Amino acid sequence: MLKIRKVMRNRLAKFGLMVLGLFSIAAMDLSESNFNEYPVYEGKDLGLTYTVKSSAFKVWSPPVTQLLLRFYETGMGGKASKTIKMKKGPQGTWGAVVKGNLQGRYYTFQAQIDGKWMDEVPDPYAYAVGTNGKRAQVVDLKLTNPVGWDFDNRPALKNPTDIILYELHLRDLSTHPSSGITNKGKYLGLTEEKTRNPEGQFTGLEHLKELGITHVHLLPVFDYMSVDESRLDEPQFNWGYDPQNYNVPEGSYSSNPEDGATRIREFKQMVRALHNSGIRVVMDVVYNHTGVTDKSNFNQLVPGYYYRQNDKGGFSDASACGNETASERPMVRKFIIESVLHWVKEYHVDGFRFDLMGIHDIETMNQISKAVHAIDPSIFLYGEGWTAGASPLPDDQKAIKANVLKLDKIAAFSDDLRDAIRGHVFTHKEKGFVSGKAGLKESVKFGVVASTWHPEVDYSKVNYSKAAWANGPDQTISYASCHDNHTLWDRLAINNPMLLDEERIKMYRLAVTMVLTAQGVPFLHAGTEMVVTKKGEENSYNKPDEINQLDWTRKYQYKEMFDYVKGLIALRKAHPAFRMTSAAMIREHLKFIPSTEENLTGFILSNHANGDPWHTIAVIYNGSDQVHPVILPRAEWKVVGNGELIDVKNPPVIRNSGVLVPGNSALILYTTNAPGQSNAAEK
Ligand code: CA
Repeated sequence: MLKIRKVMRNRLAKFGLMVLGLFSIAAMDLSESNFNEYPVYEGKDLGLTYTVKSSAFKVWSPPVTQLLLRFYETGMGGKASKTIKMKKGPQGTWGAVVKGNLQGRYYTFQAQIDGKWMDEVPDPYAYAVGTNGKRAQVVDLKLTNPVGWDFDNRPALKNPTDIILYELHLRDLSTHPSSGITNKGKYLGLTEEKTRNPEGQFTGLEHLKELGITHVHLLPVFDYMSVDESRLDEPQFNWGYDPQNYNVPEGSYSSNPEDGATRIREFKQMVRALHNSGIRVVMDVVYNHTGVTDKSNFNQLVPGYYYRQNDKGGFSDASACGNETASERPMVRKFIIESVLHWVKEYHVDGFRFDLMGIHDIETMNQISKAVHAIDPSIFLYGEGWTAGASPLPDDQKAIKANVLKLDKIAAFSDDLRDAIRGHVFTHKEKGFVSGKAGLKESVKFGVVASTWHPEVDYSKVNYSKAAWANGPDQTISYASCHDNHTLWDRLAINNPMLLDEERIKMYRLAVTMVLTAQGVPFLHAGTEMVVTKKGEENSYNKPDEINQLDWTRKYQYKEMFDYVKGLIALRKAHPAFRMTSAAMIREHLKFIPSTEENLTGFILSNHANGDPWHTIAVIYNGSDQVHPVILPRAEWKVVGNGELIDVKNPPVIRNSGVLVPGNSALILYTTNAPGQSNAAEK
């Protein structure tokens, strides 16, 4: 599905930069064929190589005729304290070695191309910058390690399907007064322990532990443009899908954006605190476009090269944000791979969510996978298997959902399941399976088998995909909502305006149950467990904290929902049957329960699926508002999920094979013996 970020559209309309961009590219004749003639630099030392005795700077920039390196004492303002002419090196590189300990110095590059001086820019490879990312900074990374960093380990993870993702914007966790968190909107806010809301319930880090999720997926925390780091005392908010410096943490989340080392250290403290709490960290990465186009640091050093061109020679725009990067070009691919590795090695990041992954080429994604998995095979990669506009990259090379079968250990979001559950994402009043819309049963079943091939799914009736697109359940992200679009609760209010809240809550619980009982990798939008609302806003990318933040008083207001979601997560984690590891295992152990009802479907996980201690598990989803009977195999069934509560300790027992499934709810039942035997054994 398309994802359009109004921030960039507004910018284009306002400044007409795209038109200027077209002219500058055309004037320089920077065509694809020219780019192919650029030498490829194989070395691993682009950017800064720092020691206390000297600093080496290296830039790849084949069209340059002169390159200046300037040093500053501050991240913003003031005059250069020193300017050095860099020397031409091999394979399109330019370099300079400066003696002495340069720790703390800020620096920029300025290129002369075709007789014209370009803008001063920070090094695209910079790993530290000053305020607003305008100048790079020399930082001794060893000095940024927090206490215990050498002993920091990734929490244990056996299989990707054991993962439960929690998608969070860093600010949203702590800005509400009820969070009880001191470092509001900061990396350090996610390190505070035992914080509580006014009702005494846990918030922040402690809440995440209590909920039981395994991975926090952070919306952009690399350096982006849209928040002015020089005036953090004023209200500002942005999702951050406007990348500026890919290898640097965002400054507005640090306690001091001017000092490059501070944000690095505090980011690491955050990772350390999460790892200590048994939670892994995923970064949302946006390599598919840059926040500005013509004026980006890439483009001021190697004009045009980092971006795909359209047939008129201008910037193509599959991101709907003014440009798209050209991952298939060797030095772009190299940049992305080395950037991802930097976050893995320097920050111990455990996974990456690729924004608009369909803009990237399959080969680049697979090379990223190979590189990170050589370091740690448990690092989890996934992305949006679509683009936001047309791209010149041929479809068969795009890392889109239809090509996930060709991706190696990389998953994609199942918009098939999302929209089956809640209704089409852009058709706001359309209902979904949970609110009684007909015709979505096969799409739900497709989600239950995690987009793999299963003989009992009729693919011709699936909403978007007419064939399996995942090799295994580890390639599908199951979800009902994310930061984009309406929250699940807001959406249910829009498409069921006449219903009472208590009716919508039933639908909500059913939706969350579907996400957490389907095969695949479940994904929860932050606050799902407390019925999060954005007060009806859809695209809240730049809306104030008041719209986006997590209101921790809702944890008390919706305590039953919190207990329900927590119970479901615990159930999923205790029962490997919900976390099968291959498509073949799913085909062997998962059978659908036949039903002629439009909004009723269910499945049986049989014979200790994936080593489960329970012999057989039955899950039934009833999306209609009517009670429906379902016939199960004859057994002593224990009802651990009755649609309202998850109760593993004292579940009610049903000894006949017929069960009644209440409207807009899910039943979860199990039997410890093979069906057909338990009753006999008891007598
Ligand atoms: Ca920034």
